[in-house]
Amino acid sequence: MSRMFMEEARSIEVFDECDILVVGGGAAGHSAAIAAARAGAKNIILLERYGYMGGDVTGGYVIMVPALTWRTGSFVRGLQEEWFTRMKDIPGAVLGAEKGTYGSEKKEDIEYWTPIWDAVSKCEDSTPRVVRSVYFEPNQLKIEMDKMLLEEKANIRVYCHSWASRPIVEDGAVTGIVFESKEGRKAIKAKVVIDATGDGDLYAQAGAPFAMDNDRKTRSTDTALVFRVGGVDFRKFFASANKSRETFGKLIGGLRAIVGHGMLPLPTPANDIVWFNNWISPMNCIDVKDLTYTEFLVRDKIRDVIKFMQDNAEGFENAYLYDIAPQTGVRCSRRLKGEYIMTPFDYAFHREFPDTIAWHSTICRINDSAPIEIPYRTILPQGVENLLCPGRHVSADSIAIDWMNLIPQCVGTGQAAGVAAAVAVTDGTTVRDVNIERVQDILVDQDVPLPRHPKTDPYLEDLCKEFDYGHYTKLSKMAAEDPNQFINYRQP
Ligand SMILES: Cc1cc2nc3c(=O)[nH]c(=O)nc-3n(C[C@H](O)[C@H](O)[C@H](O)COP(=O)(O)OP(=O)(O)OC[C@H]3O[C@@H](n4cnc5c(N)ncnc54)[C@H](O)[C@@H]3O)c2cc1C
Repeated sequence: MSRMFMEEARSIEVFDECDILVVGGGAAGHSAAIAAARAGAKNIILLERYGYMGGDVTGGYVIMVPALTWRTGSFVRGLQEEWFTRMKDIPGAVLGAEKGTYGSEKKEDIEYWTPIWDAVSKCEDSTPRVVRSVYFEPNQLKIEMDKMLLEEKANIRVYCHSWASRPIVEDGAVTGIVFESKEGRKAIKAKVVIDATGDGDLYAQAGAPFAMDNDRKTRSTDTALVFRVGGVDFRKFFASANKSRETFGKLIGGLRAIVGHGMLPLPTPANDIVWFNNWISPMNCIDVKDLTYTEFLVRDKIRDVIKFMQDNAEGFENAYLYDIAPQTGVRCSRRLKGEYIMTPFDYAFHREFPDTIAWHSTICRINDSAPIEIPYRTILPQGVENLLCPGRHVSADSIAIDWMNLIPQCVGTGQAAGVAAAVAVTDGTTVRDVNIERVQDILVDQDVPLPRHPKTDPYLEDLCKEFDYGHYTKLSKMAAEDPNQFINYRQP
């Protein structure tokens, strides 16, 4: 039975006004606000429903940032590298291969980094190499993200515990939002709004086209509730569990039998703490019932998981529950159908764009994880003005989203959104008509390498050319020869 309640119309207070309003303080939104301030914007608001920044990365305990490098080149830089540079001297905060080691094919380096998931390249068509994939302590990052905002407090006002409930749309342009808090329902007006909610909460209601399907082609639409287990010797566990495929398969199969879904014990920066990542599907990541189900399902099984590991896994004899992530892990729900939609072909052919805002090495095996270009149009919605949409709800098809919603791409598109909003406000243009060359110049000044840009280290472009943009793999050849078979390919 469908029951409806007619909500009455009412006037609400305009709580604040600004030039740039960023909604959502995750990897994308936090980066957007910081980048906008550093690009000269003076009147920015960052609105967040929880009491801390980071979203999935700090609250969801997603503690690994993969593929910052390709071969010996450091491609993913900007604010993403800054997180780790800032925390590198804090004991236990960061673990990742440094310059001089990433790109290495030496046996001893490969052996040392192999237990650290995704720290060694996995392409079948080339020799394994060390990759800079960084593991971090989420609570240290929480503190660091605050510090970055405090440094910009003259230009950024942060409102936590404030949930944006709808965009204000006038003549096809977003001019603000309505939000809910303990103080009630209020509005904020803005010249540019950045939807960094991760779930397209604003662009969906503003009328921008988007996709929302859970075809289970990738891991993207799975939910999770991550937890950590202490008292472990991870390297001992890894050596023993990986003695043979059979031993590892038995262990993972045993875990699946207990919990009923995929679960993997993964490293953290500390050898005595293990990160239990999990994949629960098929789930709808914006469905209240599915989110609630995820929380209860995982918590209900944690004690059984620890007991199983104590009994069956070397290194887990003294294991205990260390902590549970404060929020449900949401990988992907809505995907923008923006002015450009990323597909696996962008990875297979190294497409060049005039409006490239990020040039990122990724975990995609089609091109051996070589850098791909991400155009500005992936964060630009169709048919709605004054709105940018960086982060995990970016414009990508149901396969490419698996590589586009990773943390570096969320930070990268967020940083670009912030700079673009700042340039639009300063120049008095719209974000659709923004001077993209100026955006690119500022991004490069903010330590974001971009291809064909005179200030980008030429070493990076030379490296790509020398190794043919990673396009010597069987998969990239398949893309060229048999596009139909290729489009159905799923990365394992
Ligand atoms: C379990 C799990 C494992 C993963 N593993 C990896 C991995 O190993 N490596 C990797 O790179 N990526 C991984 N990912 C993906 C990656 O973590 C996320 O895609 C990325 O962090 C998303 O960043 P975001 O800023 O776009 O979105 P989010 O982190 O979701 O941030 C959105 C922010 O907006 C806030 N918000 C949402 N709606 C509103 C609203 N209406 N009003 C106000 N605030 C709002 C949220 O509270 C949040 O702070 C994983 C994800 C999960 C869930």
